[in-house]
Amino acid sequence: MAETQEATVVFGVLNETSEHESRVALTPDIVTRLRKAGVSCLIEYGAGLASQYTDEDYAKAGAEVLPANEVVARADALGFVDRPSADLVAGIKAGTWVIGMLGSFTDADYVASLESAGLVGVGIEKLPRQLSSAQSMDEMTSQNSVMGYKAALVAANAYGSFFPMMTTAAGTIRPAKVLILGAGIAGLQAIGTAKRLGAVVTAYDVRPASRDEVESLGAKFLDLGLDFSKGQGEGGYARALSAEEQAQQQAAVDQKATGFDVIITTAKVPGRKPPLLLTKAGVDGLKRGAVIVDCAASELGGNVEGSEVGTRITDGGVTIIGAPYLASEVANTASNLLARNVADVLAHFVKDGKLAIDLNEELDDALIVAGRPAAPAQA
Ligand code: NAD
Repeated sequence: MAETQEATVVFGVLNETSEHESRVALTPDIVTRLRKAGVSCLIEYGAGLASQYTDEDYAKAGAEVLPANEVVARADALGFVDRPSADLVAGIKAGTWVIGMLGSFTDADYVASLESAGLVGVGIEKLPRQLSSAQSMDEMTSQNSVMGYKAALVAANAYGSFFPMMTTAAGTIRPAKVLILGAGIAGLQAIGTAKRLGAVVTAYDVRPASRDEVESLGAKFLDLGLDFSKGQGEGGYARALSAEEQAQQQAAVDQKATGFDVIITTAKVPGRKPPLLLTKAGVDGLKRGAVIVDCAASELGGNVEGSEVGTRITDGGVTIIGAPYLASEVANTASNLLARNVADVLAHFVKDGKLAIDLNEELDDALIVAGRPAAPAQA
């Protein structure tokens, strides 16, 4: 995005309505950036307040601040943190672009609802993250980094002792033993944060390449004694394990988990239900006072058996925090990063002052999940 261009594409952002959501898909810095790319911005009154951005901040940056119905009526494209509800989809005019994490891998009915409303769906979950042109659009990376950082803080806060070793006149307190399961973007941030707080950190991931990354952060790699050397799937991501491999992994994790005070789980496989790593037997084997933060908790299930969004304490005194929403608890910075990702996705589709799709481009082909233009007739 270079020189300022005449604004012709109108981008709108609304107040996010889902529970736990404090982020917003547009921030004042990004309004300025989009104006330079030929996009004018509309934002609903109060949409940035939970992230500490006021209506005045947006207006100063050059956005129009309006009621929701006017934003929806005038926008060519709408950007979201959490995908729009069915009610909202029904109220968006045909031809509007809807940009965000649309859940297209796991919810074909939702994509069909966008399609039948005549909307163009841009599913950021389908970003080909390995492309260098996609790096600044990578919402999974930006938000998972924030989540991993916050997960370590939430765990430390819920734990009834210190993370660091502490020597006091009344005695020496040993450091917390923290286990991180899933050492991707979120897991590595959780390792770094827990280490900075002084915990003794061990981590595990199914991808063989993760051992070096874990060790380079000064954590110990947990050896399960299992060979998943073919554990790497396409594009450097984890593959889903077979039922037999999963059972072996769960048994080994359950057994090794026993000695830890805190467990943070962040394991995911793109487009699939998160893998179950710690079963009820593993949770029951933990000592009273242990804390688990499951960042993969979702309606589809998480990495820990019995985790659900929110906090619960087991009969054995283990606190399980199901926390997929943690990026929202660092809303000011998380929103700014996310807004940059969404804006760069939008700007990619602005061609000659209009929104346009070129299915011959890898990015366009990957991201458009609803409202794809008809293939040109064969000559
Ligand atoms: P993710 O959120 O899909 O998964 C998180 C972690 O869970 C991954 O490290 C995965 O290996 C792990 N996992 C999955 N199943 C597991 C199991 N059964 N047991 C233990 N761990 C399991 O992935 P992510 O964190 O976004 O990224 C994963 C990898 O992709 C990293 O190596 C990252 O560097 C790479 N990546 C590359 C690019 C790029 O090329 N630009 C961008 C983003 C991520």
